[in-house]
Amino acid sequence: MNQNRPIRVALLGAGSVGSQVARILLENADELAARVGAPLLLTGIAVRNVDAKRDVDLPKELFTDDAERLILGSDIVIELMGGIDPAKGLISLALSTGADVVTANKALIAAHGPELFDQARRVGAQLTYEAAVAGAIPIIRPLRDSLAGDRVERILGIVNGTTNFILDRMHTRGDSLEEALRIATDLGYAEADPTADIGGYDAQQKAAILASIAFHTEVPVELVHREGITEITIEQIERAKAAGFVVKLLAICERVTTSDGVEGISARVYPALVDTQHPLASVHGGNNAVFVQAQAAGDLMFYGAGAGGVETASAVLGDLVSSARRRVNGGPGLGESTHADLPVLEVGEITTRYQIILEVHDRPGVLAEIAKVFSDFGVSVSTLEQRSTGSADGAATPGHADGGSEGGATLVIGTHAATERALSALAEALAAHEASRRVTGVLRVEGAL
Ligand code: NAP
Repeated sequence: MNQNRPIRVALLGAGSVGSQVARILLENADELAARVGAPLLLTGIAVRNVDAKRDVDLPKELFTDDAERLILGSDIVIELMGGIDPAKGLISLALSTGADVVTANKALIAAHGPELFDQARRVGAQLTYEAAVAGAIPIIRPLRDSLAGDRVERILGIVNGTTNFILDRMHTRGDSLEEALRIATDLGYAEADPTADIGGYDAQQKAAILASIAFHTEVPVELVHREGITEITIEQIERAKAAGFVVKLLAICERVTTSDGVEGISARVYPALVDTQHPLASVHGGNNAVFVQAQAAGDLMFYGAGAGGVETASAVLGDLVSSARRRVNGGPGLGESTHADLPVLEVGEITTRYQIILEVHDRPGVLAEIAKVFSDFGVSVSTLEQRSTGSADGAATPGHADGGSEGGATLVIGTHAATERALSALAEALAAHEASRRVTGVLRVEGAL
């Protein structure tokens, strides 16, 4: 029935994702062949240990520990080993033979994407990586192809399921960060070493990839400002809730024009307050979502499973079918475009809003002293809530901080937009001010409605 010769597919890795890719390739072979116009022939699976027991039952004869040999003679190589070495060398080897490569390896694409894309371009091969950001959610292709005629202004992404699970537990169940992390680990959402997730490193790599595609600019991962969720306290979560916000770890990529008129881009990752009415606020558990604002399209939201073996396999297979179709029908590969080459601005240059939670001495004139610090830094206050500290019910006691009693009061201060540089200097000055007892929380507010 099929006139075209089989497309030879080599798979590197048979872990959570690779084993599902192999299973679907074998089980759905006829349907995939019909979609491609040629059979997809799985020629082998390279792993470290060919005798290891696997969750998915796959033909033993497909396994090899000689990845290089498997690559030679392949039309398409799927890299699902993870890490930089030997994945980078193997991808480079595959491209040097003219093979197309599909990968889910965000660490590798974020760190070495440009040189690998260059290599692919030189040989007319295609390197695709839909699964590298937000697992099953189609976001790379929409940004690169569907929105190619539009101008993306901003991306706000919940791109790390582990941290979203933890923050969601803290918000909905009142768990501490430690409790929520322990549950995330027990349920398999978090790795034994959770640093990459809770430290924001995983989201940082994804932000670099998203910003590069959206703004047609090479964005080195080191230029993405990164803060994780390790300092988030249940108190901050409760304060956020009371003020109508949820705390989310966001990957933010946006076009920015500085006060000096410099047009650039900002890519940053930090926990931020999101209004409960914002679509991102309803992203619960380990799910991911990417909210895109484009000039003509307006607001778009991409939502779904950000990880999981079978879910991620869907994105990998989408890239595979696309590359295989090109093999059958011809045509140039899709290159990465970095023509805009915009400067990546430092986080200090962007404009944002803060919510500052400050414990102050409860004595006359305190509010005036604090207000003066704001004015010294050119930041104006948009909201002010005041509570007495240590009151039995925690109820608000309006006017109390300036009322002259002993003890302390807590001020929850929302600022108007100002530069990050001014806001962080303000937060430092408030912490050092003799009227303040301690700053218990500083969070940015993102995703204005
Ligand atoms: P995994 O479960 O750890 O599996 C890795 C596989 O690669 C294993 O089969 C391993 O062989 C093989 N491998 C590792 N080093 C090798 C080497 N030096 N030579 C030969 N084989 C080697 O990883 P995964 O979770 O499937 O993730 C794969 C990729 O997908 C990563 O880049 C990850 O970031 C990305 N990704 C994963 C998810 C997810 O939900 N898991 C989501 C999005 C993206 P053995 O089995 O013999 O040890």
